[in-house]
Order: sequence, then structure tokens, then C-alpha cells
Amino acid sequence: MKDIVVVKDKVFETYILETELENIVSNVAQKISNDLRNENPLFLATLNGSFIFASDLIRKIDFDAEISFIKLASYSGTESTGNVKQLIGLNENIENRIVVVIEDIIDTGISMEAMIEELQKHSPKKIVLCTLLFKPGKFVKDYAIDYIGKSIDDDFIVGYGLDYEGFGRNLSKIYKIKE
Ligand code: 5GP
Ligand code: MG
Repeated sequence: MKDIVVVKDKVFETYILETELENIVSNVAQKISNDLRNENPLFLATLNGSFIFASDLIRKIDFDAEISFIKLASYSGTESTGNVKQLIGLNENIENRIVVVIEDIIDTGISMEAMIEELQKHSPKKIVLCTLLFKPGKFVKDYAIDYIGKSIDDDFIVGYGLDYEGFGRNLSKIYKIKE
């Protein structure tokens, strides 16, 4: 029997249990630890969705590591700039430094592309991408994603940091929408 939860007006059923999440995060953390141990990368977790994944991931990184939190916010300017995104929270100098972007989920890939473009302006040595979840069926971009926790179907999911209209982030499992 699948667990059912209601978030606001929608019904969701269990999809990824805590034990699987822990294995996924451990695997990614081990790979990153091995690959970047001597590179002094700066981990950049994207708010809000990746806060739980990032907190679990960073505790499994086995070298002395620095983490900060960033967000692409809609520019609150005039109406004509309605679609322009502004990078907030980047207080570190990343020039000539490897950054590891920690994302909750890459769907079409449009958000991450905007993030990459913003980070490029600060001349990092390299931008390494790490996402907990990836929807290959929806991805319309062609950049490489260095670390993917798990590839999933196109269904809408919540939990473990991911929200539906602001709610559901505090669920310990990941749930998918029930048709
Ligand atoms: P993209 O730009 O790749 O299409 O979308 C990325 C963003 O959309 C994610 O960072 C996330 O905020 C949101 N998103 C995409 N798919 C889902 C999903 O299944 N559940 C939730 N909660 N958010 C999603
Ligand atoms: Mg997100």
C-alpha cells in the first residue's frame, strides 16, 4: 500500500522513500568527494528547493568544504523587466574557482541555464552541476549535468525540499502526484 498525503488541494503518493534518498545522496557525495577533493570547490545550493538535499549532501562530503546559498529571483523593477532574473546571495569571489551548483530538480533545464549564465559573469574556473532529480523526458537543453542523483518520469513531485505552492517541503519522503 502506498502512503497518501494531501498537500493543499492535491493528492500525492509515495515515490522515493527515505532509505533510497539516503543511498542516492551517499552515492553522489562519494563521487564528488573523490572527484573534487583537491580542488577546493565552493558548493552553491540553490534556494529554496535544494535546502534539504544540500544539507544532507554537504554532511557526506568527506573533505573540508565551503557552502553558500544562492537564488535566482525575479527582478523587481519595471514591468518590462518582468522576465529578467537576478542572482542573489553570491557573496564569495568565485573567479577562477570551481563551483558546484546543488539543485533539487532539473526539468526543462531552463532555470539551470539561467543560473549558469549568471554564474559565468563571475568568471568561475568551472561550473559543476549536481542535481538530486532529473526529468530526461522534459529536458530541452544540451549542457552536461555532472552529477544526477536519480532520473525520474515526468510526474510532478513534492517532498524533501520540493514544494507544491509553497507546501510539502517538510515531507521526509518524495511523493508524486496521483492522477
Ligand atoms: P526547469 O527550469 O528545469 O523546467 O524547472 C526547474 C524548477 O522547476 C525546479 O528548480 C523546481 O523549482 C521546479 N520543478 C520542476 N519540476 C518539478 C516537480 O516535479 N516538483 C516540484 N515541486 N518542482 C518542480
Ligand atoms: Mg528549484
